[in-house]
Amino acid sequence: MKSSKLKRLTWLVAASLWSGAALAGHGDAHWSYEGKTGPDHWASLAAEFGTCGAGRNQSPVDLSRIVEAEQPPVTFHYDRTPLTVTNNGHSVQVDYAPGSYIEVGDHRFELKQFHFHSPSEHEVDGHPYPMEGHLVHADEDGNLAVIGVFYEEGRANAAIESVWNHMPAKAGQNEKAPDETVNAAALLPEDRSFYRYSGSLTTPPCSEGVTWMVMKQPVQVSHEEVAQFHGIMGVDNNRPVQPLNARLILE
Ligand SMILES: [Zn+2]
Repeated sequence: MKSSKLKRLTWLVAASLWSGAALAGHGDAHWSYEGKTGPDHWASLAAEFGTCGAGRNQSPVDLSRIVEAEQPPVTFHYDRTPLTVTNNGHSVQVDYAPGSYIEVGDHRFELKQFHFHSPSEHEVDGHPYPMEGHLVHADEDGNLAVIGVFYEEGRANAAIESVWNHMPAKAGQNEKAPDETVNAAALLPEDRSFYRYSGSLTTPPCSEGVTWMVMKQPVQVSHEEVAQFHGIMGVDNNRPVQPLNARLILE
């Protein structure tokens, strides 16, 4: 690539990061977690965000209307991935190398990335947790399955600590740790039973058709670890719970 072209490209990337737009690859409209670009206004910020307001199967939800049901078994096949930590202005995210996946029945979903919210986005009987992790998977047709993990305050968590050690302070930055790896399996609770329901992305464009599996057993993190993440984000980066409407939560 010619250096003039490279310079132009570098400038474009820098400019889009600086403006806070297009960080999550969801169009150009700026959105946030408070004020005039906060969750109550997402639907009106851009035409492609309409589902945030009009959708009937939105996430997160309060996990309260629960029915027992036969569930396809979920098996986890996670390998370690090289550690690169991105602060995209909305969350702190680790992108995953190809080859790690879950099987839901005999359907395979590749692990793409994981990221965090504080406080939690999902609630259980009206109670939020201090933090929630989202492990985002996609099948070969682009259908999404997200594993949610609640974090409660207790012992320090080594896997979280290894990510936090490289957490960039500013939006639009990422930090590579060339000699370090992380395994998403270390973010999961020992007991892998979960609540399942059909929902959406919890960030614009709030697309529906997302299979949610939220782990019942919370994982412990220290008070300091929650505070460190919250301090970097500077705001509560959780979308409020959305109406269940006709949906049921399965367990
Ligand atoms: Zn999320």
